[in-house]
Amino acid sequence: MPHWIVPLAAHGAHSFAIELGRYLVAAGIMSLILWAGARWTAARRIQKRSPAKGDRAREFGHSMLSVGIFALWSIATLAMNQAGIIHVAFTAPLWWQVALEFVAIVLAHDAYFYWMHRGLHTKAMFRRAHLTHHKSRTPTPWAAYSFAPIEGVFEGLFLPLFLLFVPMHGIVVLAFLLHQIGRNVLGHSGHELMPPGFTRFPLTAWLTTATHHDLHHSGGGHNFGLYFTWWDRWLGTEHPRYHESFEAAAVPWFGARPRLTPSSE
Ligand SMILES: [Zn+2]
Ligand SMILES: [Zn+2]
Repeated sequence: MPHWIVPLAAHGAHSFAIELGRYLVAAGIMSLILWAGARWTAARRIQKRSPAKGDRAREFGHSMLSVGIFALWSIATLAMNQAGIIHVAFTAPLWWQVALEFVAIVLAHDAYFYWMHRGLHTKAMFRRAHLTHHKSRTPTPWAAYSFAPIEGVFEGLFLPLFLLFVPMHGIVVLAFLLHQIGRNVLGHSGHELMPPGFTRFPLTAWLTTATHHDLHHSGGGHNFGLYFTWWDRWLGTEHPRYHESFEAAAVPWFGARPRLTPSSE
């Protein structure tokens, strides 16, 4: 047996466990919040429709495959770092380096995702690469990694590709990965937890909401963005009823009696 088999298998198992843990913890916490806080969250449901029977199991199954693909990307990224092709530093950075690197990688990922996502919605790609994700018309947090293998490869490609051009600190890469899964499960939560006015208030209007991505799942051809609303606004792909749908689902955090039924589709 070649000498590299055992360390590679150990790397693989380790990477798989980390990717799996990230998914299980994030989707699990979001599901727990929605379940345990149902008195507060039920009125904030975005769609009238409930997830179909078996939706969660299907989303979970496809996500397991994606976790495997991400683990392979993570092995490739570690190998590239060891070979000196990319540079991830495990030294302690200064606070402004952390801030600068984090902003850079999040902005780059947002742009990458928007254009990759537009590509996945082309006739040539949709059926083979993106239909799996869109089987969730009423998404749940477990849809976060529910991708066809080709989409999983494209989703995982971003990090090593970015690191080829920009050296980073390990702690920033970790923060990026946590922010990514956190925003991802929030976007698929099926509940609008932000208060009314959020999509129009200048300090928050540039952030996407759960309604933003939920409309992408229920309606299709709009809202391709990930973290920020900019690309959809610049390119005219924002859902025409985004603000209206958001306001229909959002409930004030304090002082108002929550609605008992969701009022938007
Ligand atoms: Zn899509
Ligand atoms: Zn989605």
